[in-house]
Amino acid sequence: MKKVVLATRNLGKIAEFERLLTELASDIKVLGLADFPDMPDVEETGSTLTENALLKSRAVAAFTGLPALADDSGLFVNALNGDPGVFSARWAGSHGDDQANTAKVLAQMAELAAKVSTVDRSASFRCAIALSFPKGDPAGDSERDSEGDGEIGDLIEIGEMKGQLIEAPRGSGGFGYDPIFIPDGYSLTSAELSAHEKDAISHRGRAMRAIAPILIELL
Ligand code: IMP
Repeated sequence: MKKVVLATRNLGKIAEFERLLTELASDIKVLGLADFPDMPDVEETGSTLTENALLKSRAVAAFTGLPALADDSGLFVNALNGDPGVFSARWAGSHGDDQANTAKVLAQMAELAAKVSTVDRSASFRCAIALSFPKGDPAGDSERDSEGDGEIGDLIEIGEMKGQLIEAPRGSGGFGYDPIFIPDGYSLTSAELSAHEKDAISHRGRAMRAIAPILIELL
């Protein structure tokens, strides 16, 4: 059985990725950070999603000695100059307070609306997924080991879901900013779509589907 570690403790993300991979190949086991309890937390100090995903995938590949995947995602609001962006999870202060984060973005949009006649409500969710190999991993070929030092280059895929922000939350599915986001081409918020419908169009689903066949080929 080939193994890959997903740099997350989120069992939902692991199950989702495992589902996707096993549709394409049956001999891959997806591990998570719960399988490596001694792995220290990696601080997300990057200024972009890609930097943060790479910080995590490289640290996990080095610690576990296995190929590692990491994702980082966020909401980018055009009228807020791309905020909350990489700070999406901690926009209102404490990490992962979805309700407070959403309320803060709504308040910022309301403040703008009070100043101008029409506010650009367009936004997008973006996700970067990074794949890193431990030093010397034979899975990499010489082309990807461009410096010939046994260090195989990282791979990055980006997924995006564009849409519009609404003025008050709707729906109870999903997480994060889903209740205030209507994907382009839909009339429901991403919190009103089924998990299956959201996976098909989401930034994370797109990035995962882009990297999965590459991962399978390289493992
Ligand atoms: P992480 O990449 O899982 O750490 O997510 C960062 C933050 O971005 C989350 O805490 C959410 O606030 C936001 N976010 C990322 N993806 C989604 C999504 O699919 N729906 C709603 N919010 C999201």
